[in-house]
Amino acid sequence: MNQSSNELGEVRTRIAPSPTGMLHLGTARTALFCWAFARHHGGKFILRIEDTDFERSTEQSVQVILDSMRWLDLDVDEGPVRQSERLPRYREVLEAMLVDGRAYHCYSSKEELDALRDTQTARGDKPRYDGRWRPENIRGQMPPAGVAPVFRFRNPDDGDVAWNDLVKGPISISNRELDDLVIARSDWVPTYNFAVVVDDADMQISHVMRGEEHINNTPRQINLYRALDWKPPHFGHLPLILAPDGSKLSKRHGAVSVMQYDTDGFLPEALFNYLARLGWSHGDDEKFTREQLVEWFDLRHVNRAPAQYNLDKLLWLNGEYIKEADDQRLARLVAPRIEARGLQLAAGPSLIRVVALLKDRSRTLNELSDSASLFYRDPVFDTKILAEHLNAQGRSVVQAFRESAKATTWERSALNAAIKKIVSDFKLKMPQVAVPLRVAVTGQPQTPSIDAVLELFGKETTLARLDAALARADSAQL
Ligand code: GLU
Repeated sequence: MNQSSNELGEVRTRIAPSPTGMLHLGTARTALFCWAFARHHGGKFILRIEDTDFERSTEQSVQVILDSMRWLDLDVDEGPVRQSERLPRYREVLEAMLVDGRAYHCYSSKEELDALRDTQTARGDKPRYDGRWRPENIRGQMPPAGVAPVFRFRNPDDGDVAWNDLVKGPISISNRELDDLVIARSDWVPTYNFAVVVDDADMQISHVMRGEEHINNTPRQINLYRALDWKPPHFGHLPLILAPDGSKLSKRHGAVSVMQYDTDGFLPEALFNYLARLGWSHGDDEKFTREQLVEWFDLRHVNRAPAQYNLDKLLWLNGEYIKEADDQRLARLVAPRIEARGLQLAAGPSLIRVVALLKDRSRTLNELSDSASLFYRDPVFDTKILAEHLNAQGRSVVQAFRESAKATTWERSALNAAIKKIVSDFKLKMPQVAVPLRVAVTGQPQTPSIDAVLELFGKETTLARLDAALARADSAQL
């Protein structure tokens, strides 16, 4: 059989998602570790779509996987390879195994297997297939008519399967714990454990890294490698990602689909950085670039203990990345979010300047969009806020500013000087001037620095808004 594993002598890793839904955070984290390991060693990172579950696999999910990987910038060197396109290959390997009894037909019905399990459980034994259709056990026995058999792998009866897990260290399982695995359905479609071995071998994967939930599959896969006389890759099982309360991560604890983070206003580089820290560390470094991750990534610093998902930390990291993001890029990302609120960007100042002003105080693009929206909608006046801030004193402050503003150069420092002059003329404190102005122009008592806000609105809009607010406060007879 034409097969060779690891002959290239290079590091080759893969991510092998099943297209049956979204790309989960856990799969993205696995992909990221495999990517970083391959990049660190100058090797290859491969994408394989495990789509042999024809009922549950969808093209839409394949697209979501591709979109998520692209969004996180996890570039692949080969693939996507689809298992559904490799069915003849699995059949070829299976046929060779059938010839000499490494695999065999099993005609047991579901009822029969259920009964077997019940008997074993009643005896206090671990349920396992008893090998009744093994070639040596059926001498002279005719297969039942009209039953399409499944295919089982003849697992060794004795001995141990051992490997030195890249994360967990040495692991050894007795073959007595394992039974003859179904490796293909009656229609020759392979099961996960069989397809994965043929694929990893054919694709010359050197390091299989995957979630800890697959650890029980590994001894079965190693037995298949041995039966096929193929060299197994190295295996590493990555720690689980748990919710903050230590339970299994679920939707309840925040989004679990990668693209949901895009919708929720996270920058891909922030999620990327965060995922890298979920189960791996480099000293106390929390924030680092892709290049640094590639330089630093090693398996020695992958934790054995589960990682804990922490949304606050992700929000903090995202805020840090927003602060340093290019204003034009932020504007491009924020624009559709503002328009989705039914607002027109043409109705306000340059969005690039708006995000430049606001980005330091936003942890997500959605928060940034919320605060930027201020510049694109007419102020909504709350009567209580008006009464509190545009009372007689507030109104006279606004009027005074309005008069001086007409002659002021529309530039931040000049506007600041005009405001300071009112503070001193009226013998007030800064907030007693700034807050009424904020309310008059935006309807809100809290905004970024008022001189910056006024500068962005421009003279015409500011004066019109001041007039409208004064008229509104007058008519409300505050
Ligand atoms: N399709 C499997 C999964 O999504 C791949 C497991 C593996 O990496 O071997 O969990």
